[in-house]
Amino acid sequence: MGVLTAERPATAPSRRETMLIGNEWLAAADGRTFFVENPAKRDSAIAEVPRAGAADIDRAARAAAKAFETWRTTHWKDRARALYAIADGVEARLEELARTLSSETGNAIRTITRAEVRGAVDTFRYFAGVASEVKGETVPLGPGVLSYTLREPFGVVGAIVPWNVPITISAWKIGPALATGNTIVLKPSADAPLAVLELARICAEHLPPGVLNVVTGLGEECGAAIAEHPLVRKLSFTGHTDTGRSVMRAAAERIVPVSLELGGKSPQIVFPDSNDERTVDGVIAGMRFTRQGQSCTAGSRLFLHESISDDFLAKLAAKLSKLRIGDPLDEATDMGAIASKRQFEKVCGYIAEGAQEKGAKVVIGGTPPSHGPLAEGYYVQPTVISLVGNDWRIAREEVFGPVMVALPWQDEADAIRMANDTHYGLAAYVWTRDIGRAIRTAHALDAGFVQIGQGGGQLPGQSYGGFKQSGIGREVSLEGMLESYTQRKSVTINIAN
Ligand code: NDP
Repeated sequence: MGVLTAERPATAPSRRETMLIGNEWLAAADGRTFFVENPAKRDSAIAEVPRAGAADIDRAARAAAKAFETWRTTHWKDRARALYAIADGVEARLEELARTLSSETGNAIRTITRAEVRGAVDTFRYFAGVASEVKGETVPLGPGVLSYTLREPFGVVGAIVPWNVPITISAWKIGPALATGNTIVLKPSADAPLAVLELARICAEHLPPGVLNVVTGLGEECGAAIAEHPLVRKLSFTGHTDTGRSVMRAAAERIVPVSLELGGKSPQIVFPDSNDERTVDGVIAGMRFTRQGQSCTAGSRLFLHESISDDFLAKLAAKLSKLRIGDPLDEATDMGAIASKRQFEKVCGYIAEGAQEKGAKVVIGGTPPSHGPLAEGYYVQPTVISLVGNDWRIAREEVFGPVMVALPWQDEADAIRMANDTHYGLAAYVWTRDIGRAIRTAHALDAGFVQIGQGGGQLPGQSYGGFKQSGIGREVSLEGMLESYTQRKSVTINIAN
């Protein structure tokens, strides 16, 4: 794990955290803690954090349920005002938050973490702006009847967030949950809870007690306790598909709705007319190399038309070799460290296995150096392995690291068939200048989020979520907010007499 739980590190960190429950900043009820590591420097604990257990989750859920009694009927203008104030508070502390994020996630400050904090600011403002849109419809049942719907909050939302994009994904959940009148118990990953705790301090300045509670702890204890708590009336989870399955099982026990944003193995299809530098840059962006490939939307399967395959891979390798890997807090760094030892070992395992497969060719990268500056942290170079079989493990499973596989194709139908031959369906990228072909391909792909001619990430307002085992439900948008955080009530009145 990226967290040290049992042993106390040789040098105890000076930073000691508490968690937000109701209007109090607390240690765990039983006093247990864990240590958060800086992945850019092996075995370096940077903070000691409460290890919440079932008693703490119970306390947080009760605080959230109490706060719900008034927050549910708080005017949308006041809810919006609070979200705008949170956005301003986050913006004012952008640099501090970005530094904390870089220290705990290993993501580079210049290329990733400042942008992540800006993404959270935009998200809070977006949901403040749509807080007035929680409205229903009237139903035409004839002159003697007035029938209409209301959209109401569920109550306490249990939100579980991963380590790769902690602040933005927290904002994707806090923003819509609070805008619609729900209250929330949120758990960041034990690998990256620090920036989320800083975010919680900002939020607490602008919210009534108990509206937002942030509990820190380990997934199998604290996350599972949230999923199972009887006062939690809605679950919103982002993380691994297997964990999502267990959250969904817990939700099924209590019949509570669940939104799941899970993994991906997203295709990038390059047509022969796009063998150019602009597309190479876009493919690198789509693969999220500068966040070490640790993104659920990483376009990690590159389908190249066979006529351009060798040339395109040479251009790709040339550009990737120029990426500067190193200290996430160094302004010169393009690409930082893998988030944890556990993740580092997993990524190295996939590279070693993929490179050994018969016929595979390592175009660039490979297993990381065992000495020198890059061996001091969990660094992995950008890696591209070509001539991979679409049925190999490295082509089917989510590596969640800077590892891309390249596969050649001959005709369009073949490319689409291979791209869709996966149990995931989160994102897809299409690279061609022929607009008809681009749209045709986008429509044929099984993915919730398709981009043509660009490799960027999702922005507030765009409906975001996956097909197949990449998830259930949508977020980051007005419709995602309404579908995922409200329930309809139908009211019918006899107005004939
Ligand atoms: P995990 O599923 O391991 O963790 C996600 C969250 O769930 C963490 O807070 C974790 O806590 C918690 N958790 C772990 N076990 C349980 C449990 N039994 N019950 C409840 N909660 C639990 O994923 P990772 O943190 O490893 O994140 C990487 C994965 O997340 C990748 O597969 C990636 O694709 C996916 N992801 C998907 C996104 C999307 O929008 N679709 C966005 C970002 C990531 P802890 O870490 O403390 O153990």
